[in-house]
Amino acid sequence: MTEQWTIGSILNWTRQYFGSKGIENPRLDAEVLLSHILGKDRLYLYTNFDQPLAPAELDSYRDAVKRRALRAPVAYITGYREFMGLEFAVNPAVLIPRPDTEILVEAALGKLAATACPVIADLGTGSGAIAVSVLAKLPEATGIAVDVSPSALAVARENAARLGVAERLAFYQGDMLGPLADKKFDAILSNPPYIPDGDIAGLSDEVRQEPRLALAGGADGLIFYRRLVAQGANYLKPGGFMAVEVGINQAAQVADLAGPECKLKAERVIKDYAGIERVVV
Ligand code: GLN
Repeated sequence: MTEQWTIGSILNWTRQYFGSKGIENPRLDAEVLLSHILGKDRLYLYTNFDQPLAPAELDSYRDAVKRRALRAPVAYITGYREFMGLEFAVNPAVLIPRPDTEILVEAALGKLAATACPVIADLGTGSGAIAVSVLAKLPEATGIAVDVSPSALAVARENAARLGVAERLAFYQGDMLGPLADKKFDAILSNPPYIPDGDIAGLSDEVRQEPRLALAGGADGLIFYRRLVAQGANYLKPGGFMAVEVGINQAAQVADLAGPECKLKAERVIKDYAGIERVVV
């Protein structure tokens, strides 16, 4: 790369380079990285193809391209991911929020709409995406966010502060239901780790850079659901509910965990944008 690079020419170069490295959306990733480094939106790139890049911009962009070619997810490079229309800080200590998880948040918002001053728990909060977006959309809601990872909790705290809900959200370090003690909630929400241990090696290079702690759900991927379903009712107010994200082909198994002797009953299974059963309420 020389000082002659313009926005247009470097995007074309990067699209080919990323393509040759087998990166799935080469042009999109190039645009997101370059707009991040220039501090502009993507539309700006299209209206300024001929703008030359300054040496410092080129250096930063080159670093970002190198990291992406080594399969760092774009969100780890930019440090942000949009979720529920909000901008969440992310780093390799947390799972990157997925659009599928918005289904869980929408379901929770719908069910909580009629509850005055709802109290929620988000177990395995990671970046805080679920808890923070629910509180951001429901100004009367309060809640707690739990994660076993202190470095994940640091990211969740940062997001709660950035998005203006820090006063309504408490943070607990611990294992899922572990820190709840005698608290009761209108909603217990969780996107627990649900990938069967044996499937982790087959995930994409990008996903394998995300925390294993946030992905691996035991031999069959269901260990966290067993605990949530068996004990969750103890932490719900009357009329309260639990909603969990599930992996491919897990919805029926998770619904079955709420068997006859269980206080919870599966009320609803919701599909994601790809038609996969993704949330069990
Ligand atoms: N949805 C993530 C994936 O597809 C997994 C998240 C999880 O285990 N909760 O990799």
